[in-house]
Amino acid sequence: MENRKFFIATEREIEEGKASDVYFSRTKDLVLSEGDDVVAEITSSMQEKWINFTGLEEVTNLLEGRNIQMWAIPEGTLLGTRDTAGRSIPFIVLKGNYSHIIELETSILGFICQSSGISSESTRVFMECYPKPFMSFGIRRMHPGISPMIDRAAYIGGASGVSGILGAELIGITPSGTMPHSAALIMGEDRAWDYVMKNSPPGSRTILIDTFGDEKFKAIEAAEKFPDIDYIRLDTPSSRRGNFPQIIREVRWELDIRGFKRVKIMVSGGLKKEQIAELREAGVDSFGVGTTIASGKVIDFAMDIVEIGGRAITKKGKLSGMKNVFQCESCGRTTIALFNETPLCPDHGIMRGLLQKILQDGKRINKKESVIEIRERSVNMALKLLNSPKE
Ligand SMILES: [Zn+2]
Repeated sequence: MENRKFFIATEREIEEGKASDVYFSRTKDLVLSEGDDVVAEITSSMQEKWINFTGLEEVTNLLEGRNIQMWAIPEGTLLGTRDTAGRSIPFIVLKGNYSHIIELETSILGFICQSSGISSESTRVFMECYPKPFMSFGIRRMHPGISPMIDRAAYIGGASGVSGILGAELIGITPSGTMPHSAALIMGEDRAWDYVMKNSPPGSRTILIDTFGDEKFKAIEAAEKFPDIDYIRLDTPSSRRGNFPQIIREVRWELDIRGFKRVKIMVSGGLKKEQIAELREAGVDSFGVGTTIASGKVIDFAMDIVEIGGRAITKKGKLSGMKNVFQCESCGRTTIALFNETPLCPDHGIMRGLLQKILQDGKRINKKESVIEIRERSVNMALKLLNSPKE
Protein backbone atom coordinates (compact mmCIF):
# COMPACT_ATOMS: atom_id res chain seq x y z
CA MET A 1 0.00 0.00 0.00
CA GLU A 2 2.92 2.38 0.62
CA ASN A 3 3.43 3.05 -3.09
CA ARG A 4 -0.20 3.85 -3.62
CA LYS A 5 -1.29 7.41 -4.32
CA PHE A 6 -4.90 6.82 -3.39
CA PHE A 7 -5.97 4.50 -0.64
CA ILE A 8 -8.26 2.33 -2.64
CA ALA A 9 -8.33 -1.39 -3.40
CA THR A 10 -7.89 -2.42 -7.03
CA GLU A 11 -10.44 -4.63 -8.80
CA ARG A 12 -7.91 -7.45 -8.72
CA GLU A 13 -7.35 -7.14 -4.98
CA ILE A 14 -11.08 -7.30 -4.36
CA GLU A 15 -11.32 -10.41 -6.56
CA GLU A 16 -8.42 -12.01 -4.72
CA GLY A 17 -10.10 -11.40 -1.40
CA LYS A 18 -7.52 -8.92 -0.21
CA ALA A 19 -10.08 -6.25 0.61
CA SER A 20 -11.45 -8.61 3.24
CA ASP A 21 -11.27 -9.15 6.96
CA VAL A 22 -8.33 -11.39 7.77
CA TYR A 23 -10.24 -13.88 9.88
CA PHE A 24 -11.80 -15.38 6.79
CA SER A 25 -8.54 -16.23 5.09
CA ARG A 26 -7.13 -17.52 8.37
CA THR A 27 -9.86 -20.17 8.48
CA LYS A 28 -10.00 -20.86 4.75
CA ASP A 29 -7.92 -24.05 4.93
CA LEU A 30 -10.13 -25.39 7.66
CA VAL A 31 -13.19 -24.98 5.48
CA LEU A 32 -11.62 -26.21 2.25
CA SER A 33 -11.25 -29.80 3.40
CA GLU A 34 -14.93 -30.35 4.11
CA GLY A 35 -16.74 -27.28 2.88
CA ASP A 36 -18.72 -28.87 0.08
CA ASP A 37 -22.32 -27.83 -0.58
CA VAL A 38 -22.95 -25.08 1.89
CA VAL A 39 -25.92 -22.69 1.71
CA ALA A 40 -25.29 -19.16 2.94
CA GLU A 41 -27.94 -16.50 3.21
CA ILE A 42 -27.69 -12.71 3.37
CA THR A 43 -30.23 -11.01 5.61
CA SER A 44 -30.50 -7.81 7.60
CA SER A 45 -31.36 -7.65 11.26
CA MET A 46 -32.67 -4.10 10.79
CA GLN A 47 -36.40 -3.51 10.95
CA GLU A 48 -37.06 -1.33 7.93
CA LYS A 49 -40.50 -1.13 6.31
CA TRP A 50 -38.68 -1.06 3.02
CA ILE A 51 -35.22 -0.60 1.65
CA ASN A 52 -34.15 -0.16 -1.96
CA PHE A 53 -31.90 -3.15 -2.56
CA THR A 54 -28.89 -2.40 -4.80
CA GLY A 55 -25.25 -3.41 -5.21
CA LEU A 56 -26.07 -6.84 -6.62
CA GLU A 57 -24.46 -6.18 -9.99
CA GLU A 58 -21.03 -5.83 -8.38
CA VAL A 59 -21.63 -8.98 -6.32
CA THR A 60 -22.57 -10.83 -9.51
CA ASN A 61 -19.46 -9.57 -11.26
CA LEU A 62 -17.35 -10.69 -8.32
CA LEU A 63 -18.83 -14.20 -8.14
CA GLU A 64 -19.20 -14.88 -11.85
CA GLY A 65 -16.88 -17.69 -12.88
CA ARG A 66 -16.73 -19.27 -9.41
CA ASN A 67 -18.46 -22.61 -9.13
CA ILE A 68 -21.49 -21.54 -7.10
CA GLN A 69 -25.23 -20.94 -7.42
CA MET A 70 -26.71 -17.58 -6.52
CA TRP A 71 -30.29 -16.39 -6.11
CA ALA A 72 -31.12 -12.80 -5.28
CA ILE A 73 -33.80 -10.14 -5.03
CA PRO A 74 -33.57 -8.04 -8.23
CA GLU A 75 -31.79 -4.70 -7.84
CA GLY A 76 -34.06 -1.72 -7.37
CA THR A 77 -36.65 -3.77 -5.48
CA LEU A 78 -38.29 -1.97 -2.56
CA LEU A 79 -38.79 -4.59 0.10
CA GLY A 80 -39.04 -4.72 3.90
CA THR A 81 -36.10 -6.30 5.72
CA ARG A 82 -38.53 -8.54 7.65
CA ASP A 83 -41.50 -10.60 6.50
CA THR A 84 -45.00 -9.99 7.85
CA ALA A 85 -44.21 -12.22 10.84
CA GLY A 86 -41.06 -10.20 11.63
CA ARG A 87 -38.52 -12.71 10.31
CA SER A 88 -35.47 -11.56 8.37
CA ILE A 89 -35.80 -11.90 4.61
CA PRO A 90 -33.04 -13.48 2.48
CA PHE A 91 -31.87 -10.93 -0.11
CA ILE A 92 -29.17 -13.23 -1.50
CA VAL A 93 -28.78 -17.00 -1.22
CA LEU A 94 -25.49 -18.67 -2.18
CA LYS A 95 -24.96 -22.37 -2.58
CA GLY A 96 -21.76 -24.19 -3.29
CA ASN A 97 -18.32 -24.92 -1.94
CA TYR A 98 -17.77 -22.45 0.83
CA SER A 99 -14.13 -21.99 -0.05
CA HIS A 100 -15.29 -20.08 -3.14
CA ILE A 101 -17.01 -17.42 -1.07
CA ILE A 102 -15.49 -17.32 2.39
CA GLU A 103 -12.78 -14.82 1.51
CA LEU A 104 -15.21 -12.62 -0.39
CA GLU A 105 -17.85 -12.24 2.31
CA THR A 106 -16.52 -8.86 3.41
CA SER A 107 -16.63 -7.46 -0.12
CA ILE A 108 -20.00 -9.01 -0.97
CA LEU A 109 -21.54 -7.36 2.07
CA GLY A 110 -19.75 -4.07 1.48
CA PHE A 111 -21.13 -3.83 -2.05
CA ILE A 112 -24.76 -4.22 -1.00
CA CYS A 113 -24.67 -2.55 2.45
CA GLN A 114 -23.44 0.80 1.17
CA SER A 115 -25.15 0.86 -2.20
CA SER A 116 -28.51 -0.10 -0.67
CA GLY A 117 -28.08 2.58 2.00
CA ILE A 118 -27.59 5.22 -0.70
CA SER A 119 -30.37 3.99 -3.00
CA SER A 120 -32.80 3.75 -0.06
CA GLU A 121 -32.06 7.32 0.97
CA SER A 122 -32.37 8.42 -2.64
CA THR A 123 -35.83 6.83 -2.81
CA ARG A 124 -36.86 8.69 0.35
CA VAL A 125 -35.71 11.94 -1.29
CA PHE A 126 -37.59 10.93 -4.47
CA MET A 127 -40.78 10.58 -2.46
CA GLU A 128 -40.30 14.02 -0.86
CA CYS A 129 -39.58 15.72 -4.18
CA TYR A 130 -42.22 13.96 -6.27
CA PRO A 131 -43.51 15.03 -8.76
CA LYS A 132 -40.53 17.39 -9.02
CA PRO A 133 -37.19 15.91 -10.14
CA PHE A 134 -33.92 15.92 -8.25
CA MET A 135 -30.27 15.45 -9.20
CA SER A 136 -27.57 13.59 -7.31
CA PHE A 137 -24.86 16.12 -6.42
CA GLY A 138 -23.19 14.26 -3.56
CA ILE A 139 -20.02 12.64 -4.86
CA ARG A 140 -17.82 15.44 -3.49
CA ARG A 141 -18.62 14.36 0.05
CA MET A 142 -17.27 10.84 -0.46
CA HIS A 143 -14.06 9.16 -1.56
CA PRO A 144 -13.66 9.65 -5.33
CA GLY A 145 -12.90 5.96 -5.76
CA ILE A 146 -16.56 5.13 -5.21
CA SER A 147 -18.16 8.02 -7.06
CA PRO A 148 -19.60 5.85 -9.87
CA MET A 149 -21.23 3.55 -7.33
CA ILE A 150 -22.75 6.49 -5.43
CA ASP A 151 -24.27 8.05 -8.55
CA ARG A 152 -25.55 4.70 -9.80
CA ALA A 153 -27.30 3.98 -6.48
CA ALA A 154 -28.68 7.53 -6.29
CA TYR A 155 -30.00 7.24 -9.85
CA ILE A 156 -31.66 3.87 -9.20
CA GLY A 157 -33.24 5.40 -6.11
CA GLY A 158 -34.99 7.94 -8.30
CA ALA A 159 -32.58 10.78 -9.14
CA SER A 160 -33.28 12.17 -12.62
CA GLY A 161 -29.63 12.88 -13.22
CA VAL A 162 -26.20 12.72 -11.63
CA SER A 163 -23.40 15.25 -11.53
CA GLY A 164 -20.53 12.77 -11.78
CA ILE A 165 -18.91 12.13 -15.16
CA LEU A 166 -18.02 8.52 -14.36
CA GLY A 167 -21.34 7.83 -12.69
CA ALA A 168 -23.22 9.13 -15.72
CA GLU A 169 -21.03 7.02 -17.99
CA LEU A 170 -21.79 3.90 -15.94
CA ILE A 171 -25.51 4.62 -16.12
CA GLY A 172 -25.42 5.61 -19.78
CA ILE A 173 -26.74 9.16 -19.46
CA THR A 174 -25.32 12.67 -19.86
CA PRO A 175 -24.04 14.13 -16.59
CA SER A 176 -26.03 17.05 -15.18
CA GLY A 177 -24.43 20.27 -14.11
CA THR A 178 -25.02 23.95 -14.12
CA MET A 179 -22.25 26.42 -13.32
CA PRO A 180 -20.01 26.74 -10.27
CA HIS A 181 -19.79 29.89 -8.14
CA SER A 182 -16.15 30.03 -9.18
CA ALA A 183 -17.18 30.85 -12.77
CA ALA A 184 -18.99 33.95 -11.55
CA LEU A 185 -16.01 34.87 -9.36
CA ILE A 186 -13.43 34.46 -12.11
CA MET A 187 -15.31 35.72 -15.16
CA GLY A 188 -17.72 38.07 -13.46
CA GLU A 189 -21.38 37.17 -13.15
CA ASP A 190 -22.51 38.70 -16.47
CA ARG A 191 -19.90 36.92 -18.56
CA ALA A 192 -20.46 33.66 -16.71
CA TRP A 193 -24.21 33.81 -17.37
CA ASP A 194 -23.61 34.66 -20.99
CA TYR A 195 -21.22 31.74 -21.31
CA VAL A 196 -23.70 29.28 -19.80
CA MET A 197 -26.51 30.46 -22.05
CA LYS A 198 -24.35 30.05 -25.16
CA ASN A 199 -22.92 26.66 -24.20
CA SER A 200 -25.79 24.74 -22.58
CA PRO A 201 -28.28 22.73 -24.59
CA PRO A 202 -31.86 24.06 -24.56
CA GLY A 203 -33.79 22.59 -21.67
CA SER A 204 -30.82 22.71 -19.33
CA ARG A 205 -29.83 26.38 -19.50
CA THR A 206 -29.39 27.01 -15.81
CA ILE A 207 -27.97 30.18 -14.32
CA LEU A 208 -26.67 30.35 -10.79
CA ILE A 209 -27.92 33.68 -9.52
CA ASP A 210 -26.80 34.05 -5.93
CA THR A 211 -23.03 34.43 -6.00
CA PHE A 212 -23.13 38.09 -4.93
CA GLY A 213 -26.60 39.55 -4.97
CA ASP A 214 -30.04 39.10 -3.55
CA GLU A 215 -31.98 36.09 -4.85
CA LYS A 216 -35.11 38.01 -5.85
CA PHE A 217 -33.46 40.90 -7.69
CA LYS A 218 -30.86 38.69 -9.36
CA ALA A 219 -33.58 36.28 -10.54
CA ILE A 220 -35.44 39.16 -12.18
CA GLU A 221 -32.21 40.48 -13.70
CA ALA A 222 -31.27 37.05 -15.10
CA ALA A 223 -34.73 36.42 -16.59
CA GLU A 224 -34.84 39.88 -18.17
CA LYS A 225 -31.37 39.50 -19.68
CA PHE A 226 -31.97 35.95 -20.93
CA PRO A 227 -35.66 35.26 -21.59
CA ASP A 228 -34.71 31.77 -22.94
CA ILE A 229 -33.29 30.67 -19.64
CA ASP A 230 -34.68 27.34 -18.38
CA TYR A 231 -33.74 27.42 -14.72
CA ILE A 232 -32.44 29.88 -12.24
CA ARG A 233 -30.53 28.07 -9.54
CA LEU A 234 -30.39 29.15 -5.91
CA ASP A 235 -27.55 27.78 -3.83
CA THR A 236 -28.12 30.22 -0.99
CA PRO A 237 -25.66 29.58 1.87
CA SER A 238 -27.21 28.58 5.18
CA SER A 239 -26.04 31.82 6.82
CA ARG A 240 -28.30 33.79 4.45
CA ARG A 241 -31.26 31.47 4.39
CA GLY A 242 -33.40 32.78 7.19
CA ASN A 243 -36.59 31.51 5.61
CA PHE A 244 -35.67 29.69 2.40
CA PRO A 245 -39.23 28.77 1.36
CA GLN A 246 -40.21 32.43 1.69
CA ILE A 247 -37.31 33.43 -0.58
CA ILE A 248 -38.62 30.90 -3.14
CA ARG A 249 -42.16 32.28 -2.90
CA GLU A 250 -40.84 35.81 -3.50
CA VAL A 251 -38.71 34.77 -6.47
CA ARG A 252 -41.59 32.81 -8.02
CA TRP A 253 -44.01 35.69 -7.60
CA GLU A 254 -41.72 38.34 -9.00
CA LEU A 255 -40.85 36.17 -12.02
CA ASP A 256 -44.52 35.31 -12.65
CA ILE A 257 -45.85 38.84 -12.61
CA ARG A 258 -43.15 39.87 -15.10
CA GLY A 259 -44.20 37.14 -17.55
CA PHE A 260 -41.48 34.61 -16.74
CA LYS A 261 -43.78 31.78 -15.69
CA ARG A 262 -41.78 29.29 -17.75
CA VAL A 263 -38.50 30.06 -15.97
CA LYS A 264 -38.07 27.32 -13.40
CA ILE A 265 -36.42 27.41 -10.00
CA MET A 266 -33.76 24.93 -8.94
CA VAL A 267 -32.31 24.81 -5.43
CA SER A 268 -29.26 23.05 -4.02
CA GLY A 269 -26.85 23.32 -1.14
CA GLY A 270 -27.01 21.07 1.93
CA LEU A 271 -30.70 20.25 1.46
CA LYS A 272 -32.15 18.01 4.14
CA LYS A 273 -34.95 15.58 3.34
CA GLU A 274 -37.22 17.32 5.85
CA GLN A 275 -36.93 20.68 4.03
CA ILE A 276 -37.89 19.41 0.61
CA ALA A 277 -41.70 19.21 0.85
CA GLU A 278 -42.07 22.83 1.99
CA LEU A 279 -39.68 24.07 -0.69
CA ARG A 280 -41.55 22.09 -3.32
CA GLU A 281 -44.84 23.63 -2.25
CA ALA A 282 -43.24 27.08 -2.21
CA GLY A 283 -42.43 26.70 -5.92
CA VAL A 284 -39.15 24.82 -6.39
CA ASP A 285 -39.16 22.91 -9.70
CA SER A 286 -35.96 20.90 -9.32
CA PHE A 287 -33.62 19.93 -6.50
CA GLY A 288 -29.89 19.23 -6.28
CA VAL A 289 -29.36 16.86 -3.35
CA GLY A 290 -25.88 15.82 -2.28
CA THR A 291 -24.71 14.84 1.18
CA THR A 292 -28.11 13.57 2.31
CA ILE A 293 -28.09 10.85 -0.35
CA ALA A 294 -24.37 10.10 -0.62
CA SER A 295 -24.13 9.58 3.14
CA GLY A 296 -27.23 7.39 3.28
CA LYS A 297 -27.01 5.13 6.32
CA VAL A 298 -25.68 1.68 5.41
CA ILE A 299 -28.01 -1.30 5.58
CA ASP A 300 -26.37 -3.82 7.88
CA PHE A 301 -26.59 -6.99 5.87
CA ALA A 302 -24.92 -10.10 7.26
CA MET A 303 -24.10 -13.46 5.71
CA ASP A 304 -24.75 -16.71 7.57
CA ILE A 305 -24.53 -20.38 6.81
CA VAL A 306 -28.00 -21.92 7.05
CA GLU A 307 -27.43 -25.38 5.60
CA ILE A 308 -24.48 -27.76 5.26
CA GLY A 309 -24.68 -30.88 3.09
CA GLY A 310 -28.47 -30.62 2.92
CA ARG A 311 -28.80 -30.37 6.70
CA ALA A 312 -30.40 -27.25 8.20
CA ILE A 313 -27.97 -25.65 10.62
CA THR A 314 -27.12 -22.11 11.66
CA LYS A 315 -25.78 -20.12 14.59
CA LYS A 316 -28.04 -18.93 17.39
CA GLY A 317 -30.02 -15.82 16.51
CA LYS A 318 -30.64 -16.96 12.91
CA LEU A 319 -33.15 -19.25 11.20
CA SER A 320 -31.71 -22.39 9.61
CA GLY A 321 -32.62 -23.90 6.25
CA MET A 322 -32.39 -22.70 2.67
CA LYS A 323 -35.21 -20.22 2.21
CA ASN A 324 -37.00 -18.06 -0.30
CA VAL A 325 -39.21 -15.05 0.33
CA PHE A 326 -42.73 -15.05 -1.05
CA GLN A 327 -45.08 -12.16 -1.65
CA CYS A 328 -48.81 -11.88 -2.31
CA GLU A 329 -49.36 -9.51 -5.22
CA SER A 330 -52.84 -8.58 -3.98
CA CYS A 331 -52.05 -7.48 -0.43
CA GLY A 332 -48.26 -7.26 -0.32
CA ARG A 333 -47.97 -9.77 2.53
CA THR A 334 -44.51 -11.34 2.60
CA THR A 335 -43.41 -14.57 4.18
CA ILE A 336 -40.24 -16.59 4.23
CA ALA A 337 -40.50 -20.33 3.68
CA LEU A 338 -38.17 -23.19 2.89
CA PHE A 339 -36.91 -22.99 -0.66
CA ASN A 340 -39.04 -25.79 -2.12
CA GLU A 341 -42.26 -24.80 -0.36
CA THR A 342 -45.08 -22.78 -1.91
CA PRO A 343 -46.83 -20.89 0.88
CA LEU A 344 -50.27 -19.36 0.33
CA CYS A 345 -51.63 -15.99 1.38
CA PRO A 346 -54.52 -16.71 3.80
CA ASP A 347 -56.63 -14.12 1.96
CA HIS A 348 -55.59 -14.41 -1.67
CA GLY A 349 -53.89 -17.73 -2.17
CA ILE A 350 -50.96 -17.77 -4.52
CA MET A 351 -47.72 -16.05 -3.50
CA ARG A 352 -44.73 -15.37 -5.72
CA GLY A 353 -41.16 -16.31 -4.82
CA LEU A 354 -39.04 -13.18 -5.06
CA LEU A 355 -35.55 -14.67 -5.30
CA GLN A 356 -34.33 -14.99 -8.87
CA LYS A 357 -31.58 -17.29 -9.95
CA ILE A 358 -28.64 -15.18 -11.09
CA LEU A 359 -25.70 -17.61 -11.27
CA GLN A 360 -25.80 -21.26 -12.30
CA ASP A 361 -22.44 -22.94 -11.66
CA GLY A 362 -20.89 -19.49 -11.80
CA LYS A 363 -22.53 -18.56 -15.10
CA ARG A 364 -24.87 -15.61 -15.31
CA ILE A 365 -28.21 -17.02 -16.47
CA ASN A 366 -30.49 -14.01 -16.26
CA LYS A 367 -30.41 -11.08 -18.64
CA LYS A 368 -28.24 -8.24 -17.40
CA GLU A 369 -30.50 -5.26 -16.81
CA SER A 370 -29.53 -1.72 -17.68
CA VAL A 371 -29.35 0.81 -14.86
CA ILE A 372 -32.26 2.62 -16.50
CA GLU A 373 -34.41 -0.54 -16.33
CA ILE A 374 -33.47 -1.07 -12.69
CA ARG A 375 -34.42 2.55 -11.90
CA GLU A 376 -37.77 2.04 -13.59
CA ARG A 377 -38.57 -0.89 -11.27
CA SER A 378 -37.57 1.09 -8.22
CA VAL A 379 -39.44 4.26 -9.19
CA ASN A 380 -42.62 2.31 -10.00
CA MET A 381 -42.49 0.68 -6.59
CA ALA A 382 -41.86 4.03 -4.89
CA LEU A 383 -44.85 5.56 -6.69
CA LYS A 384 -47.01 2.66 -5.56
CA LEU A 385 -45.92 3.28 -1.97
CA LEU A 386 -46.58 7.02 -2.37
CA ASN A 387 -50.08 6.32 -3.61
CA SER A 388 -50.91 3.69 -1.00
CA PRO A 389 -53.04 4.93 1.90
CA LYS A 390 -50.94 6.14 4.84
CA GLU A 391 -51.13 4.05 7.99
ZN1 LIG B 1 -52.74 -11.46 0.05
